[in-house]
Amino acid sequence: MNKVIISVKNLAKNYGNFQAVKNISFDVYEGEIFGLLGPNGAGKSTTLEIIETLRDKTSGEIIVDGINLDSNKDGIKKIIGVQLQTSGFYPGLNLVELVHLFGGLYNQPVEPMYFLKLVNLEDKAKNKFKELSGGQKQRFSIATTLINKPKIIFLDEPTTGLDPQARRNLWELIRNIRSQGTTVIITTHYMDEAEQLCDRIAIMDEGKIISLNSPDKMIDELVATGFERPKQVKLANLEDVFIHLTGKEMRDE
Ligand code: ADP
Repeated sequence: MNKVIISVKNLAKNYGNFQAVKNISFDVYEGEIFGLLGPNGAGKSTTLEIIETLRDKTSGEIIVDGINLDSNKDGIKKIIGVQLQTSGFYPGLNLVELVHLFGGLYNQPVEPMYFLKLVNLEDKAKNKFKELSGGQKQRFSIATTLINKPKIIFLDEPTTGLDPQARRNLWELIRNIRSQGTTVIITTHYMDEAEQLCDRIAIMDEGKIISLNSPDKMIDELVATGFERPKQVKLANLEDVFIHLTGKEMRDE
């Protein structure tokens, strides 16, 4: 039996008269990569920021690793890691300085090279954040989510804007983090990414969860309705061509 690490029951959030999240319920299991998908405005950020203790809810119950949000927000903060948008980092500090800064925020002594090694950025330890490539910036921001040794990390569109190699590299990093036992909640607008990476997905639209299942089961259910792609799918796609021609190795080092 999988242990439930996040339990959301009847969560609602109103902004004035507008209902952004409409009584949603779902569980996240320990050790899974859980995707929250949906069009812009669906209510994904609102839902995640409530679980992350960054926004207040209107009603409902949230329990994270046995801790009730209503009675112990700080307890939840201690066991989660939240990825900041990379624009939030001080561009003029080097990576070692930034890791120390984050360690200070969490009130934890940190060993910067340990975290930089986790995300394959030891070589860039003395580089300023602004000197990193897009993929390196994303890897660094993922490293900062791990500083307080969290049980759960939240990644918000971690591969947006990256080239195909850098995206694959990040998928591998996320799988590695999960294989250490960390639960991962991820948002993405890339369906191939969700299909490759997520054990289960919740699809949100207009404040509701309209489907929750593994990517495989969701696809099977659609096919069972008689759905067929309009065109015979080729055995490869343009992304395969790109990777085949340019190689799998990273270029941004
Ligand atoms: P998503 O992350 O899926 O794009 P959001 O949770 O950001 O969706 O937003 C859901 C809805 O709530 C949107 O219609 C958005 O305009 C609205 N919304 C988000 N934050 C606020 C806010 N602080 N005040 C008023 N409306 C908001």
